[in-house]
Amino acid sequence: MKPTKPERQVATPQTRTPRTAGDITSSSTEKLTQDSAPPRRPTVLALDLEFTLISSAVSQIPRPGLFSFLKRCKELFPRIVIFTSVPEGRFREIAKTLTNESVAPDWFLEVEYISWSGATKDLRFIDGCDVEDVLLIDDLASYVHEGQEKQWIAVEAFDPRNSGDLGLGDLTAKLEQRLINTEPLGINS
Ligand SMILES: [Mg+2]
Repeated sequence: MKPTKPERQVATPQTRTPRTAGDITSSSTEKLTQDSAPPRRPTVLALDLEFTLISSAVSQIPRPGLFSFLKRCKELFPRIVIFTSVPEGRFREIAKTLTNESVAPDWFLEVEYISWSGATKDLRFIDGCDVEDVLLIDDLASYVHEGQEKQWIAVEAFDPRNSGDLGLGDLTAKLEQRLINTEPLGINS
């Protein structure tokens, strides 16, 4: 149980008194370790396609900043997967068009595709990792599987009529922010 703060104390991070070794009891050591250890860094980025990276599978208009966004994703995550309701064959055709037009990097042609079923994008469909290792990028909250809300990073749906769309730039900032306080990549490898 958290002790109640004294009324007059202004609780800002700057005014917190650093704990000394003398303050540490066995139970608070445990608590401290939990508090101070940076959270595990997500290593898998699951990307939605329609209204996230492009308009739709029909119109296939690339979102502004797509190339830079994908390039940055590759720098930040060891593993990138596509988690979309568009069938794989169709997705590969779209990826081919996007790389041919140089609006997506070449690796996007062979990016891992997740086969899944059901009403939600259950991250357990992604083999070889834990749900906590994955961040899902999607414009639709309804696709987020119950209990996996923490793994979701929302992106504003792309409307190709909005030529000033900044969705992917905003998303990059969100991703970087999300990773900033996690353990360094490869610390345990
Ligand atoms: Mg979508």
